[in-house]
Amino acid sequence: MIFLKSPEDLEMLKRSGKILAAVMRKVEKIVQPGITTLDIDRLSQELIIKENAVAAFKGYKGFPAASCVSVNEEIVHGIPGPRVLLEGDIVSIDLGVNYQGYFSDMAVTLAVGRIDESRKKLIAVTRQSLDTGIKQARVGNNLTDISHSIQTFVEAQGFSVVRQFVGHGIGAALHEDPEIPNFGQPHSGPLLKSGMVLAIEPMINMGGWECLILDNGWTAVTKDGAPSAHFEHTVAVTDKGPVILTQ
Ligand code: MG
Repeated sequence: MIFLKSPEDLEMLKRSGKILAAVMRKVEKIVQPGITTLDIDRLSQELIIKENAVAAFKGYKGFPAASCVSVNEEIVHGIPGPRVLLEGDIVSIDLGVNYQGYFSDMAVTLAVGRIDESRKKLIAVTRQSLDTGIKQARVGNNLTDISHSIQTFVEAQGFSVVRQFVGHGIGAALHEDPEIPNFGQPHSGPLLKSGMVLAIEPMINMGGWECLILDNGWTAVTKDGAPSAHFEHTVAVTDKGPVILTQ
């Protein structure tokens, strides 16, 4: 069941999203060669607490950290630890915030120092595919208009869309209905209505779309070992068009 949010709910979700975006901007600044993925997690946790909010991922289905930090061929759900980021890596940071019972979710992929042109393109295309999907989050469209626009855009650039993980509704819980695939035919699925809040999150691979889960039970990696990127925003569907809450 898809819950429609009241104007009061949307106001609170906007606050949650604003906190998350501010935390993310600060965390992004420390990304450089030589730091560890745990450094990213520690700072995220500290900044979220400072904002009187709760890191939504910590303890979620047993996830051990405040952030998911996924490097290179890791797609999503990387567990922060002693891994040192190296020049030329790309790193995806996924963060969720619970502010007074209102959840927001956001991810970015960043370059670590200088990266090669193909990785630059992967990051740019993934970010643009999120923008493309968000534009379709309009009253009167169907859900899969978002999915189809992302897939079409990404595949035209020569990259592939992860199938195993999808976006989701969000609000009073981190994950609500509906599931939002980043692929598929247009004009199907639920009609989008004002008051829906969606976490749209394309995960895009440089090589094939297939993935594997590491032995830690969490981390998804590309099957062919090629790099992957991930961007996510929490977006409200409104009568005035899509509103990005995590900025
Ligand atoms: Mg998400």
